[in-house]
Amino acid sequence: MQDWKTLASGLYDGTFRHMFIDGAWCEAISGQVIEARNPADGRLLATVPRGTDADIDAAVAAARKAFEGPWSKFTPFERQALLLRIADGFEAEWETLCLSDTLDMGMPIQRTLANSRRVLGMLRFYAGQAVAIHGQTIPNSFPGEIYSSTVREPVGVVGAIIPWNAPIAGSIWKIAPAIATGCTVVLKPSEEALLTVLLIARIMQEAGLPDGVLNIVTGLGAEAGAALAAHPGVDKIVFTGSTATGQAIARAATGNLKRVSLELGGKSPVIVCKDADIEKAVPVAAMAVFANSGQICIAGSRLFVAREIHDEFVRRVAEYAAGLKIGHGIETDTDIGPIISARQAERIASYLKIAAHEGAEVLTGGSRAVGPALEGGHFIQPTVFGGVRDEMTIAREEIFGPVISALPFDSIDEVVKRANATPYGLAAGVFSTHLGTAHKLAHRLRAGSVWVNMYHAIDPAVPFGGVKMSGYGREGGTEHLDEYLDTKAIWINAD
Ligand code: NAD
Repeated sequence: MQDWKTLASGLYDGTFRHMFIDGAWCEAISGQVIEARNPADGRLLATVPRGTDADIDAAVAAARKAFEGPWSKFTPFERQALLLRIADGFEAEWETLCLSDTLDMGMPIQRTLANSRRVLGMLRFYAGQAVAIHGQTIPNSFPGEIYSSTVREPVGVVGAIIPWNAPIAGSIWKIAPAIATGCTVVLKPSEEALLTVLLIARIMQEAGLPDGVLNIVTGLGAEAGAALAAHPGVDKIVFTGSTATGQAIARAATGNLKRVSLELGGKSPVIVCKDADIEKAVPVAAMAVFANSGQICIAGSRLFVAREIHDEFVRRVAEYAAGLKIGHGIETDTDIGPIISARQAERIASYLKIAAHEGAEVLTGGSRAVGPALEGGHFIQPTVFGGVRDEMTIAREEIFGPVISALPFDSIDEVVKRANATPYGLAAGVFSTHLGTAHKLAHRLRAGSVWVNMYHAIDPAVPFGGVKMSGYGREGGTEHLDEYLDTKAIWINAD
């Protein structure tokens, strides 16, 4: 059994960590730093550069130089081999990477460790894709011998901006397709989770990543993030984060009309039909929200339950929630880790107050979690609200915390209408043992992913993304590569 506490004590000691530009480990040009603290206890883990527009300029220049330099000569096979070496490096250092995320953003160690299938799978999936990119030969209707075909070309310098809730998977989802397609990247991690991406850059460098192909600028959203989104030298922005920031990024991208793909927030419905297998559905519906302390974009935070089984089902979800262990992510029996920051915990706590004020009934939780083991951290009890109505604030807005709103329904037509009555469209869950009902709901719900009798499944080979204000573009699957490729038509007059 791994001794995580001893390992953790040797990982971050409060010292300065450099960011990564053009293959070199550097400070911010301004010399300023940001503190990285453990959200479970407030302890200083490290300081990192506070990069600003000048650092973004340097990183974009390095990415451009690499894109036009030797990297452009890498064959598909060489890009594939590089991704496979990176995957091996990740596998060798998986525990350190997971521990870094646990310390830096609080995710329980059991959950970070469990991500290996997905993350290693992504690296190896994109390695496979690197040698499968091809154009088409397309017949045209011109007289004579005129041939037309297409080739797929890398879009160029990609600016990647990620949130704090899943740094390993979130960054690999941006970097791996760029390497597969021959793009270069400037990545700005969230100011709330800065450290793991620097480890990732080190592993990639050791695996032979050429200088400038990946550049990491640590900094604030309003400074480094905004500079990257607006930069005229960036050809494409891939963003994961809140809808409000996504809108700001889409606006900033208009300067040079850079391409944009956005993975944004959600207010996803989970629909439990009267014929659901209750035994199986209770823990899945609960963890559809409580996993990662509710800090998941796909959180199934509106729990619609058929009136016939509503009270019993919701009571059991509340009992399940009350049995979850809240604690430091480093403890192997922790189910619910800390909230990322004091600000975010305050935001969630304010929703709890609004819910009570608007008349929702606390079935379990409903406040901050405190105690000697939680001192210095930001913890919120897993919370289930009953008596919720669709128009209440907690049933409409993304909370990004461990809060379920339970809502009864009477018919399939009614629940479809109510479930779709949101500006978001990221994900949905359905629990039913009736094939027809499951199909009907899966097709009628407006969401990028619908899970039936399960939740949370994300696989490298299956596209993921949103509709409506949950964004556009897909990550995962072969469609993901299209986000990083342009299509060029070539005409040849052979007469
Ligand atoms: P956020 O939008 O505040 O920040 C995300 C990133 O954008 C950070 O790196 C931040 O520094 C940067 N940023 C902030 N302002 C910017 C600006 N003006 N210009 C450019 N960059 C800027 O989001 P967050 O609080 O870090 O993450 C939570 C949000 O992310 C939630 O809404 C959640 O639903 C969403 N999310 C979505 C997905 C998905 O795949 N759809 C996945 C995870 C999180």
